Amino acid sequence: MTSPSMTNIGIGLIGSGFMGRSHAIAMRAVQGIFGADVVPSLEVLADVDAASAQRAATALGFARATADWRDLVRDPAVQLVHITTPNALHKPMALAAIAAGKAVYCEKPLAANAGDAAEMADAAEAAGVVTAVGFNYLKNPMLLAAREMVAGGEIGEVVSFRGIHAEDFMTDPAAPWTWRLDPSGGHGVVADLGSHILSIARFLCGDIDAVCGQLATAHPTRPLAGGGTHAVEVDDQARALLHFTSGATGSVEASWVAAGRKMTLAFEVTGTRGSIAFDQERMNELQLYTTGQPAGRDGFRTILAGPAHPPYGKFCPAPAHHLGFNDLKTIEAHAVLRAVAGGAAFLPDFREAARIQATVDAIVRSARERAWATP
Ligand code: NAD
Repeated sequence: MTSPSMTNIGIGLIGSGFMGRSHAIAMRAVQGIFGADVVPSLEVLADVDAASAQRAATALGFARATADWRDLVRDPAVQLVHITTPNALHKPMALAAIAAGKAVYCEKPLAANAGDAAEMADAAEAAGVVTAVGFNYLKNPMLLAAREMVAGGEIGEVVSFRGIHAEDFMTDPAAPWTWRLDPSGGHGVVADLGSHILSIARFLCGDIDAVCGQLATAHPTRPLAGGGTHAVEVDDQARALLHFTSGATGSVEASWVAAGRKMTLAFEVTGTRGSIAFDQERMNELQLYTTGQPAGRDGFRTILAGPAHPPYGKFCPAPAHHLGFNDLKTIEAHAVLRAVAGGAAFLPDFREAARIQATVDAIVRSARERAWATP
């Protein structure tokens, strides 16, 4: 039952893998965590075939299931289309949803290349629909705190950003070829994980106006699930030097063959009067260093997440009890729903994701041409 002050938003979810489940879990949690200002109504779930779509719809609480995502886009009860499919499908699905006048909440990376991403942002702006992209790590209350500290000058003027997103799920040369290695979906780890650390670099330090990239493929072939092997045409490791419009300099690194690294999405921002460091493996902590401490007592201190870092308190009244990955998705989902209901605009939207994609493409171009490139 909805009350007159409540906005009900019909949800259509395309894909029910890792991210599809996370989106659904988040949508189901929003009302309990944030209250009843906007309430998602889980209408339709689409997946590749009728049986898997129905199985997921039942498990995740959707009213209907379909094997044809175009039915979902056309469904009059659906106002917000979630796209959690492999990257190559984001563009056709998003353009169809935009053409139907629906809001779109798409997973990252937004598209296979910067041209496609800009086309999607242009289409959404022309149609006047709300868009959102799942750079969920930006929704961590500790990243908001870091941004506040940087913007408030607590570490002085920023001179350096050093970031990395390293995982090890492709370390084993016997790990099979998957859609993540399909060049029709875009680049390799530079887009898959690199887009996350670039989103954080931009979130904290602003526009990047030049990059110098290096890409490497650790394993030139991978086994296919059905037998045989497939050539790997995308990067397994990526690095880039960065120059920010502000004058600050920096670097980013991305790897999915970083043996032993499970979720090293980490950064250090250094200013003229201090530094802030973060690692997603300890996502409820920030390390803060400020200059001017007494000799012998000089060092970083740890700030633990708590109700003083909104919206942590919506989840838990006590500090250091810790949020998790799906909580970031819940914060993101609530912000998307608020934007669709006419509240504050959602960021990062398709336009911001297109700028991130332009930076990814510039790193690839720079690596190929062995020269600095402009996003
Ligand atoms: P996945 O392989 O686990 O799931 C993909 C889902 O899409 C599956 O359910 C698959 O059956 C479905 N699908 C494929 N083709 C379809 C079609 N034509 N119609 C309907 N459904 C179809 O993949 P994943 O790990 O969930 O990744 C999906 C997206 O989410 C990718 O863009 C990825 O980059 C992104 N992702 C984001 C994060 C994050 O932290 N934000 C984490 C992981 C993945």
